[in-house]
Amino acid sequence: MKIRYFDNAATTKVKKEVLEAMLPYLNEQYGNPSSLYSLGRKAKTGIEKARKNVANLINCNPNEIYFTSSGTESDNTIIKQIAKKYKKNKKHIITSKIEHPAVLHTCQVLEKEGIDVSYINVNKEGIIDLEELKRSIRNDTFLITIMSANNEIGTIQPIETIAKIAKIHNIIFHTDAVQACGNMPIDVKKMGIDALSLSGHKINAPKGVGALYVKNGIEFDKFMDGGHQERNKRGGTENVASIVGLGEACLIAKNNLEPHIKHLQELRDYYIKQVEEKIQFVKLNGAKSKRLPGNANFSFEFIDGSALLFKLDEKGICASSGSACTSGSSEPSHVLKAIGLPDNLSKGALRVSFGEENTKEDVDYLINSLIEIVNELR
Ligand code: PLP
Repeated sequence: MKIRYFDNAATTKVKKEVLEAMLPYLNEQYGNPSSLYSLGRKAKTGIEKARKNVANLINCNPNEIYFTSSGTESDNTIIKQIAKKYKKNKKHIITSKIEHPAVLHTCQVLEKEGIDVSYINVNKEGIIDLEELKRSIRNDTFLITIMSANNEIGTIQPIETIAKIAKIHNIIFHTDAVQACGNMPIDVKKMGIDALSLSGHKINAPKGVGALYVKNGIEFDKFMDGGHQERNKRGGTENVASIVGLGEACLIAKNNLEPHIKHLQELRDYYIKQVEEKIQFVKLNGAKSKRLPGNANFSFEFIDGSALLFKLDEKGICASSGSACTSGSSEPSHVLKAIGLPDNLSKGALRVSFGEENTKEDVDYLINSLIEIVNELR
């Protein structure tokens, strides 16, 4: 059976060009990047080229990029390291109720260590309450961490405005841009972002590689003890091939951003229109316009999301009931809860996230399958 993949917010397929860029670093160029002979230097050159490409995607300097193992590691690192630096005098972090667990759970751990955290509410569309954010600022707030775009409902936050507010109060602003990078323009200089997390496997690079941008001038300690890799911040021999893959994926994302966004938007808007026209008792979760180009999250009333997923799977369709990270839990999604969705509607949520290989024909197949399954389940 042909697999139709609509779960690109969970992970993406490694692009052919990305794989081709990586392969030499798994055999011919296998040197340790810290070695001084040419085989090692070639691996090092591969890493530094990748650093430039990652930096170019978000418009920062290459020496502001640190390679990590994941978006999760990038989020953990910046939040914990900044907290460590400021802990003596400042005790307060601001975040939102709809962050990914990589941010939420990190903040919860810090709360146990005596840091206060304000979890800002969002409106019905999933957009942060800016007035509440402003009111929450204290003299001892040292970090605001708000995601650029949400992984479940796709809502895009007013990042530039939040960055301005942070700047006025001399607060560091970090954004989890794991879902945003490669799917919307991100310019850290123009947007006033001090720190940013991104992840390879959401932009057609491999799993297990990520990057952390930290603006020059923001001090933080070494976060992995060991060798002097990553400008003496993260010890450990680099994951050269995956880093090269991430760099290649960022280069492609930068060069293709406009047509990529246009293609996803067309599929998404067609899907949303068809579902609203052809299936009764549905509700689109999240903002209609301030939304990632490939995301559509619908609640199907009187339907259990996991039953829907199983039936879709039987037809070769991959989608998600919430985010891949929270699925498996029977609790309603914290994001859908935060936008005020009642439990019965949360249970019937289906996230579809389009990718570049999807076609209109795939979307027609998805819609026809949904009509059939929803009728059957109801
Ligand atoms: N942040 C967001 C918004 C995500 O969607 C994800 C992954 O789903 C992560 C962080 C974690 O990234 P990784 O899977 O690379 O650890």
